[in-house]
Amino acid sequence: MRSWTLPILAVLAASLGGALPAAPVRAQAPSAVPVLPSITAVRVGGDGQKTRFIMDLSQKLDFAAFALADPYRVVLDMPQVAFHLPDKAGEQGRGLIKAFRYGLIMQGGSRVVLDTSGPVKIEKAFVLEATSDLPARLVVDLATTDRASFLRAQTLDNGPERRTSAKLPDLPAKADGDMRPLIVLDPGHGGIDQGARAQSGELEKDIVLQFATTLRARLEQSGKYRVAMTRTDDTFIPLSERVRFGRSHGAALFVSIHADSLPKNEGQAEGATVYTLSENASDAEAARLAEAENKADVIAGVDLTAEPDDVANILVDLAQRETKSYSAQFARSVVGQLKSTARLHKHPLKSAGFKVLTAPDVPSVLIELGYMSTKDDLKLLTNGDWRAKTAASVAQAVDQFFAPRLARGSARAN
Ligand SMILES: [Zn+2]
Repeated sequence: MRSWTLPILAVLAASLGGALPAAPVRAQAPSAVPVLPSITAVRVGGDGQKTRFIMDLSQKLDFAAFALADPYRVVLDMPQVAFHLPDKAGEQGRGLIKAFRYGLIMQGGSRVVLDTSGPVKIEKAFVLEATSDLPARLVVDLATTDRASFLRAQTLDNGPERRTSAKLPDLPAKADGDMRPLIVLDPGHGGIDQGARAQSGELEKDIVLQFATTLRARLEQSGKYRVAMTRTDDTFIPLSERVRFGRSHGAALFVSIHADSLPKNEGQAEGATVYTLSENASDAEAARLAEAENKADVIAGVDLTAEPDDVANILVDLAQRETKSYSAQFARSVVGQLKSTARLHKHPLKSAGFKVLTAPDVPSVLIELGYMSTKDDLKLLTNGDWRAKTAASVAQAVDQFFAPRLARGSARAN
C-alpha cells in the first residue's frame, strides 16, 4: 500500500533539498524569475467510505503524501506552487475530507493539509499527465480505516524525515563586545497558517508581519537593542521553533504579535490585550484564544505526536525563575504605554497556556493588537498611522523595561 510513498518522498526530499539554494531567485533580474507551477482548481468527490481529492496542475510535479493522527490529517508536500483557487476553497469538504487548506510551508515548498473525519488510508496518490483536453492532475484516494491499522501504517512509514519549515532567519551581525540586549519579535502564523481572517479578506499573518516590521525599525532606530524576527516573510514556523529561536540566541525579551478574531456568535470585543503564560487561563476568553493560537502547528500539518505537551512542566520550571515576574512587568508596561495610543480591551492584561510563551529563561509576552472581527479595530489594524503610533508605544514599553538594566550595565562599564 505504501510502495509509492518512499520513491516519492525521496524525490521530494531531493527536490526540496536541491531546490533550496536555487529557490531564492531575487538576486536575478526580474525577467529571469521562473514561473511557478500553479494549482488552478480543486475537486473532492466520493463519500464517507472512499473519497478522491483532485488538484488541476499547470504542469506535472512530484509530491509526497502522508497521514498524521491526533487530529487525523493527510499532508501533501510538493515543491513551491502558486495556488490560484477561490477565496473560500477548502472551507467545505466532502466525504472523508472535512476541510482543507494550502500554502507555503517553507521557501521552495508548498503544502496541502486535508482534515479528515477519522483515520484514513491513503490508497493511491499519483500525478496524471495532461491530455489534449485535461490539465495535469494530482490525485489522492482515501479510504476509511480503523485507528489501529492507521497507527500501524504510520509506524511502517519510516521514510526520510519530513521537513516542516525553512531555516529561521539569521540574526543581525553582532560586533565583538556588543552587549546590547537581543529582542526577538515573533509575528504569528505565516504561510499555510493564515491565522484569523477578516470578513473583508485581510489576514492576521499579513497584519502582524507588517506590525512587527514597523516595530523592529522603531527599536533599531534607538540603537539600544539588537532585534531579530522569527519570520520576515510569509513562511510557516512551528511554535516550538519560535521558542527555540529566542532561547538559543539568548534573547532578553520575546514579543509575539497577533490579532484576534471572535467567532460570529460570540458577540463583539475590541482593543488590544497583552498576554503572559499561565497554567490556568485568567478567563474563558483567554483560554479560547490560547487554544486557537496553539493550533498553529496542527493547521500546518506538523506531527505533534513526537512533541511533548509540556506546558505544565515548563510552568513548574518557570516558577523557579525570575522570568515570570519579568514577563508580567513588561506586560504591565505595554498596557501602560498603549493606554494613550491604542484602544485597549476592557481587561487588557490576561494570561493563559500559550505554547509560544514557554521559554523558561526568556521573558515573553503575546500582544493581541485588536480584533479583526470588529470593524473599528480592523480599520486601525490596517492603518499606517495607527501602526506607527502603536509600535512607538510598544518601543517605549521596551525602553521602560530595559532602562534599569541598561543603566546598571553602563554604571558597571564606567
Ligand atoms: Zn494569532
